Amino acid sequence: PTSVMWFRSDLRLQDNPALTMASLAGRQDGVVPLFVVDETLWIQNARAAYLARLLGDFSQRIDGLHVVRGDPRTEVSRVAQEVGADSVHVAAAFTPYGARRDDAVERSLATHGVRLERTGSPYAVAPGRVTKDDGTGYRVFTPFFRAWQKHGWRAPDTALDEVSWIHPDGGVSIPETPVQDGMRLPPYGEDAALARWRQFLDEDVAEYDSARDLPGRDRTSRMSVHLKWGTIHPRTMLADLAQLRSKGAEAYARELAFREFYADVLHHRPDSAFGYYNRAFEQMEYDEPGEALAAWKQGRTGFPIVDAGMRQLLSEGWMHNRVRMIVASFLVKDLHLEWQHGARHFMDQLVDGDLASNQHGWQWVAGSGTDASPYFRVFNPTTQGKKFDPDGEYVRRWVPELADVPAKNVHTPWELDPPPAGYPAPIVDHSEERIESLRRYEVIR
Ligand code: FAD
Repeated sequence: PTSVMWFRSDLRLQDNPALTMASLAGRQDGVVPLFVVDETLWIQNARAAYLARLLGDFSQRIDGLHVVRGDPRTEVSRVAQEVGADSVHVAAAFTPYGARRDDAVERSLATHGVRLERTGSPYAVAPGRVTKDDGTGYRVFTPFFRAWQKHGWRAPDTALDEVSWIHPDGGVSIPETPVQDGMRLPPYGEDAALARWRQFLDEDVAEYDSARDLPGRDRTSRMSVHLKWGTIHPRTMLADLAQLRSKGAEAYARELAFREFYADVLHHRPDSAFGYYNRAFEQMEYDEPGEALAAWKQGRTGFPIVDAGMRQLLSEGWMHNRVRMIVASFLVKDLHLEWQHGARHFMDQLVDGDLASNQHGWQWVAGSGTDASPYFRVFNPTTQGKKFDPDGEYVRRWVPELADVPAKNVHTPWELDPPPAGYPAPIVDHSEERIESLRRYEVIR
């Protein structure tokens, strides 16, 4: 029999249990490597530009990925019938859309006597696996983290031998997806993921817990994009970290658990992808987006750390975690906009844009999420800048108008006389907006 391996966000050959199963099922006649360009998901943005290049690389590695275009609910069973497959293999999807899609594909395959086999997931512990004693999902990270550790995970899968790929006729090319002006995409592919991971283990993990909050030092792993597309599996990473037993390695594993926590939360509350996790926040008073949103997107708010972050996003499709929190807080609490406006821009621009981590990262900052930072704790962008970018190294890297400003004023350029040429004055008064923000919160509290 023939089998089909339907790749989605698991574009790797190593430690890929679904592929191992596909290979076993297709050991006589071979495995068809399938990718479906689903127009519901394929929007011309930074993430798609990255994915297009990654797919090109992956296709070369296996001498031809079979790419089709359209609705997976019809396309997957069409391909399965054409090649005479008995089974289609996937890693289970857990986004609201992905889970519904896979159920529909499973039904459509079943009408032709073909099985959809889900093996593994993009997580060490699949969403829904760890629950409280009453069977419901965790709403707070720390107890989730403990239960997650206790649950444990499999060792990396090394069972895969040579796969005998089959390359059917037909198929389409990977859509042309231009990179937007001025954006440099990060390296892509399984080799790049493993190389980056080894480099991080050699050079940076030991200091991860102390350096991770300093955007100027840029010492985080940048593995998010590889995790997003599954060019590496977190199980592989956790196995390496367990060998190290250092504080840095422990802190890093905890961050990987955050990714799993948010996926779990979204699995239990699919409505929280676009709606408020804490529904009380639906009643809050918000402003309509206008010029302030545009200034935020362009990195022209007059707050150096905010502008540096937003420009890094436009230029790299990535932003440092500390700065993601600062710019998000600015949008919600200084501009009084709903978090969804910012989250949408992030999903458009981030190459690592991940529905669970992004929407829940935003809701956490907005105060409407899981063990959310309390709404009354309002980030002061200037204080945050001084604390986490004390020499202004990060700001100067991304905001050339401030390149020559002395460190003392790099987070308060408005105090200079004359102010730096070409750099905007602050678009809001932070202390006033903080009070306004708290006033609006008091109403719903
Ligand atoms: P590292 O510090 O090296 O962390 C290692 C890995 O741990 C990351 O790759 C990621 O998989 C995971 N991780 C770390 N912090 C978090 C976190 N707070 N939540 C979930 N996972 C985490 N992460 C995304 O992968 N995609 C997103 O779309 C995304 N949107 C975010 C939006 C906001 C408003 C905030 C505050 C955070 C968001 N994050 C998102 C989480 C975090 O900012 C990124 O994972 C991190 O900056 C990626 O860089 P890194 O790989 O160098 O991180």
